[in-house]
Amino acid sequence: MSIAENVAAVRANMAAAARAAGRDPAEIRLVAATKMNDAERVREAIAAGVDICGENRVQEMLEKQRQGAYEGAPLHFIGHLQKNKVKQVVGLAALIHGADSRELLEVISRTAAARGLVQDVLLEVNVGGEASKSGFREEEIPAVLEFASALPALRVRGLMAIPPICDFPEENRPFFCRMQKLFVDNGEKKYDNVSMDFLSMGMSGDYTEAIACGANLVRVGTAIFGARNYQKPNFL
Ligand SMILES: *Cc1c(COP(=O)(O)O)cnc(C)c1O
Repeated sequence: MSIAENVAAVRANMAAAARAAGRDPAEIRLVAATKMNDAERVREAIAAGVDICGENRVQEMLEKQRQGAYEGAPLHFIGHLQKNKVKQVVGLAALIHGADSRELLEVISRTAAARGLVQDVLLEVNVGGEASKSGFREEEIPAVLEFASALPALRVRGLMAIPPICDFPEENRPFFCRMQKLFVDNGEKKYDNVSMDFLSMGMSGDYTEAIACGANLVRVGTAIFGARNYQKPNFL
């Protein structure tokens, strides 16, 4: 299957899941998780109509950016962002999905302010409460929104989550549904610099489940590009 065929199949599944949930397919955006795929394959995905490119690793993103990989699509940073790499990402990524600590929020705002920018971010929620994963606890979110609303060069645009690895996609439903509730509940209160527009969840194995629970950004890699070969990446 070609990248274009895969994108078409993912789109069809997304639309079916949206309609089954009584949602308009047009409100859900497809983020191609492009890690380990070279610039040519990324361009192929953009030509096939993905809405956004999402990168995980700063070095790889900068290298592919130099190669013109992302022309024609907005770029998001979807990986774990270290504080010392913030300066390379602010202003380049239209949206940072995984803001996972107050310190990181502060560094992002300070960096953006120094450049006269306002950086959009999503708060990452550790919805499975896993020790191995970063992200805020669900119950912390109101306080974090309060905290973020005082940071002048940062705007919170919503929430992001990666639920625990599971054998069957249905097992993630409860986590996705909890995220939906958190998203809706916290969207009701008005904070400065916060606008709850995006709920980023769902990957190749479970994006239809995530759409059933309100996701409007799905991050899909394998179902578009095929399995990643960590021994022999397409990107080097
Ligand atoms: C790689 C990645 C994805 C996509 O994973 P697939 O299972 O290949 O679709 C989504 N989100 C993040 C944060 C990723 O790192």
